Amino acid sequence: MSRIDSLIAAMTLTEKLGQMTMATADSVITGAVMRTGVDAGITSGAIGNVLNLYGADKTRAAQRLALETSRLKIPLLLGLDIIHGHRTIFPIPLGETAAFDPALWEATAREAAREGAADGLHMTFAPMLDVARDPRWGRIAEGPGEDSFVAQAMARAKVKGFQAADLTGADTLAACAKHYCAYGAVTAGRDYAATDVTPRALREIYLPPFEAAIGAGVATIMPAFTSIDGVPLSAHRALLKDYLRGRLGFDGVLVSDYNAIAELIHHGVAADLTEAAALALQAGIDIDMMANAYHDGLPLALERGLVTMADVDASVRRVLRLKEQLGLFDDPYRRGGTESATVLAARRQLAREAATRSIVLLKNEDAALPLGEGRLAVIGPLADAPGEMRGCWSAAGVAGDCVSVLAGLRFALPHRSIRYAPGVDIESSDDSGIAAAAALCDEADAILLCLGESVAMSGEASCRAHPGLPGKQAALVDAVLARARGKKVIVMLFSGRPLVVPDLVARADAVLAAWAPGCEAGNALADLLTGRASPSGRTPISWPRAIGQIPVFFGERPTGRPANPADHYTSKYLDEANEPLFPFGHGLTYGDPVYSGLQVTPDMAGPLGSFTVSVRLANRGVHAASETVFLFARDKVASVSRPMELKGFERITLKPDESGIVTFQLATQDLRFPGPDLEPLFEPGEIEILVGPSADRTRLLTATVNLV
Ligand code: BGC
Repeated sequence: MSRIDSLIAAMTLTEKLGQMTMATADSVITGAVMRTGVDAGITSGAIGNVLNLYGADKTRAAQRLALETSRLKIPLLLGLDIIHGHRTIFPIPLGETAAFDPALWEATAREAAREGAADGLHMTFAPMLDVARDPRWGRIAEGPGEDSFVAQAMARAKVKGFQAADLTGADTLAACAKHYCAYGAVTAGRDYAATDVTPRALREIYLPPFEAAIGAGVATIMPAFTSIDGVPLSAHRALLKDYLRGRLGFDGVLVSDYNAIAELIHHGVAADLTEAAALALQAGIDIDMMANAYHDGLPLALERGLVTMADVDASVRRVLRLKEQLGLFDDPYRRGGTESATVLAARRQLAREAATRSIVLLKNEDAALPLGEGRLAVIGPLADAPGEMRGCWSAAGVAGDCVSVLAGLRFALPHRSIRYAPGVDIESSDDSGIAAAAALCDEADAILLCLGESVAMSGEASCRAHPGLPGKQAALVDAVLARARGKKVIVMLFSGRPLVVPDLVARADAVLAAWAPGCEAGNALADLLTGRASPSGRTPISWPRAIGQIPVFFGERPTGRPANPADHYTSKYLDEANEPLFPFGHGLTYGDPVYSGLQVTPDMAGPLGSFTVSVRLANRGVHAASETVFLFARDKVASVSRPMELKGFERITLKPDESGIVTFQLATQDLRFPGPDLEPLFEPGEIEILVGPSADRTRLLTATVNLV
């Protein structure tokens, strides 16, 4: 008998349900005692998995409890949300996506896994793969933005980074693709709200990132809190058991979201915990995180015949197999230890690179940046706010490790006059500091305004109906602009979402979307402001001009009445443009990349063929440029109306006056789409190929090829 078979044969029901239960330790261990009851649960076998506990000593103590006091001595599985770094905080995922570099995405996940594993962890609840098009939704900060192709690339890179080649490695973490699925489509951008997503949208947009994660070998998947078309994901047999397990062959662990199984009662699909537990298990969820539904509800559900012992055993087997894959049976203490100063320094360096590359230069009128010589006024509530640089879900990140903009600038420019005033708080209504802050403009040659949201204003349960500048920041902007009298005003925006700030953008000379850059924020921004580095981030999400445009995204399907200002009865607003303020992919550099010579060969190809797409870029600017080139395709006439779709992105770095060719390979298989029956369809016909710096169609070079 295998180890797992013998264990299952020896287990009591309580012990089986323990392997199917994950409880929080709230990162508190006093001696050997965790949050009330957790230590006793570990000893009795009623708790087999723990979240929110980290630190080599604490995790070792918890593991020892399981191994020395529980009957079957099954090692614990320890998980934590390591979303964008563990102690070393990288940019928030939305920001990191802006680098458009899978190698970087993988590298930060690799480092986060090494650091988390050194803190005794086995599992992270990441990557978050929720495609999202509504900036009101706070969790947009945690994900890869508006596009599914990007989310798929992110899925592969992150899973590879967290899990490396082999999960037994002491520096790996089991990844968790979440939140399956369409969580980003919550009604009105309000967290936890229901979604009504069409089967086609699922197939085209929301499922592919999870398919990519499974293809990359993701160990676990977390269903979303939300419902789709009336069925909560925590009880969604069709999407979990039939699609994930049946069709995609996912045989890893399904872990519920926090208390989500009990919430089936609030969803109105279960009358009590027993029914809720039965629904979740029938759908195939292996681990109940924090609802105690399996522990409390499954014994009765078994008695009533709602589920079978075979269902229970199948889940226990998957959990034990994950523990085996993680090497926990062979050496439960293999993770947890200290890391060398060299490793830590290299990780900080990576954090600086990731931050630098995540920041998007949205506007740079008259080459306001990089900064010239002269005195600086650094103004705003986010200028000296190291803790705010971490962004939401910052795991073990501490404010004291983070470099503020002010600190970064003072370090980079030690001989410069740099005067600072916050002016206002991020959120309060106190405007008493505005006058003094604005007065700094008199003694400055350039003004740097650091504005935006607090960490708490994005992330889970942090949705905003007014995603603009909070508190009195707009008044600060007015006062500073009035006092600047023609001096350059450079705005750094910190946020977990695209903010709706068209007036601010119109009036500033330069605007940088810094998102939440992580622990190296100030150094990265100083590198960019001074020109030591040239901005290269590209927004992975459209920036609306007005709240009323939301959702605004490039992949909209065509309409029968395309917008035409001369024709009233066309698809447009009376009072606002259709186009976003900044389209997906927008981002400037200090260079001046010019596109020409789009070539696609051959001009026709069959179902097994591929196209080579190439474009020439020349940097006509006086600074180096790192340019991300986007490849889009659109099926002109198809059995299902097709939007413009992203099919590739590549980066090229060019010195002044340098030119180069960027080449893509586009397999015709990648031009299939879910046909009328939602199955992948290769359909002959004309395909428009579009290449350029963003999803703004007016800036794309185009060619037409044929599928035959
Ligand atoms: C979130 C998940 C997270 C879990 C555990 C939930 O509230 O939705 O994304 O992994 O908590 O912390």
